[in-house]
Amino acid sequence: MQTALADWIKDTPAGREADAILRKCVHCGFCTATCPTYQLLGDELDSPRGRIYLMKQVLEGHAVTAKTQLHLDRCLTCRNCETTCPSGVQYGRLLDIGRSVVDERVPRPLGARLLRSALKEGLTSPLFAPAMKLGQAVRPLLPASLKAKVPAKQDAGAWPTRSHPRRMLLLEGCVQPAMQPNINAATTRVFDALGIELVRPANAGCCGAIRYHLNDHDGGLADARGNIDAWWPHVEAGCEAIVMNASGCGAMVKEYGYLLQHDPPYADKAMRIAELTKDVAELLPALAGELKRRLGVAPAQRVVFHPPCTLQHAQKIRGAVEDLLRAVGAEVLPFAETHFCCGSAGTYSVLQPDLSYQLRDRKLANLQAPQPDVILSANIGCIAHLASGTDTPVMHWIEWLDRRLG
Ligand code: SF4
Ligand code: SF4
Repeated sequence: MQTALADWIKDTPAGREADAILRKCVHCGFCTATCPTYQLLGDELDSPRGRIYLMKQVLEGHAVTAKTQLHLDRCLTCRNCETTCPSGVQYGRLLDIGRSVVDERVPRPLGARLLRSALKEGLTSPLFAPAMKLGQAVRPLLPASLKAKVPAKQDAGAWPTRSHPRRMLLLEGCVQPAMQPNINAATTRVFDALGIELVRPANAGCCGAIRYHLNDHDGGLADARGNIDAWWPHVEAGCEAIVMNASGCGAMVKEYGYLLQHDPPYADKAMRIAELTKDVAELLPALAGELKRRLGVAPAQRVVFHPPCTLQHAQKIRGAVEDLLRAVGAEVLPFAETHFCCGSAGTYSVLQPDLSYQLRDRKLANLQAPQPDVILSANIGCIAHLASGTDTPVMHWIEWLDRRLG
């Protein structure tokens, strides 16, 4: 499409990037078919094409209103539209720019600002773990809305103590150790069984996605720099990979190179970190034969795998987990709308609860239709969100594998 960006943005890096993305969009509307918010609301302005049009107007200097902000806020950033788009429109990047410009021009009410600030600082704070512990202690007394955000206390089991010549780094994440510590422990046990030591640098922290996607770009990039500083000595010492077991974190860390390209002290390091970053689903298939040998003949279990948007649409890893689960003896059941978001989407379930819970229930209906023994996924946010709406066990697929390995 043709564009005429306003003078105040057209010659900036963000303006040039937005212009190139906008020009790729041919307004065909194919993306509307797979957009969750358009499917729920039926409003063109809650579709990717409509939001692209809104952002084009903003960047061309037209008036910006709270209504524009609302339609952008309702976007899950699931990037399903990117997977569908035949023209390669990088909608996610455009949205980051669009949201930032809109938020500069439309101040949010005090309550909304306080909530966003509490999410940004609270979820990434060292106080999150004690707060979660307290929440778990009084969980039976919590109202249903709060209970949905506080998973029952989980035992992580034993951590491996052996050393191996093969070493990789593991990002533990900000909320995952407090909410479901078994995911990190299970990951280290599975890798240990395969002869790989996962090192967990204590000074690494949040990947930066929480702050970045709440429009605090500086805060998100500061988190990224902190992780690069924590990991770099291990990279120089020859660590093989940086392992991600939360697909949301993986999607963010793989973008470090792009996000820090204009930061000379960090640009090259960030690029190297992004290259070394791998989701567990990219590392374990190479070891499927060894896993199968160790598992022997375990009884088959009927499972469904919900691929998070950050795995299938952002990282573009599709089918690898399902293939691995089949290779180690699971019966992976098909279900409808595998491409659809479960509604978790980072902090979306707090900021847009109505849409979020509609999507959760729609996803659970599809996942439970084939009557699985267990629902598997690959991201802490999706796992906790889905678990809040069902009695069917929900876990990370690496936990399932760890259990099978015994
Ligand atoms: S984003 Fe892609 S699919 Fe959607 S209208 Fe533009 S070109 Fe078509
Ligand atoms: S990112 Fe997801 S919710 Fe947002 S416009 Fe694209 S498909 Fe729709």
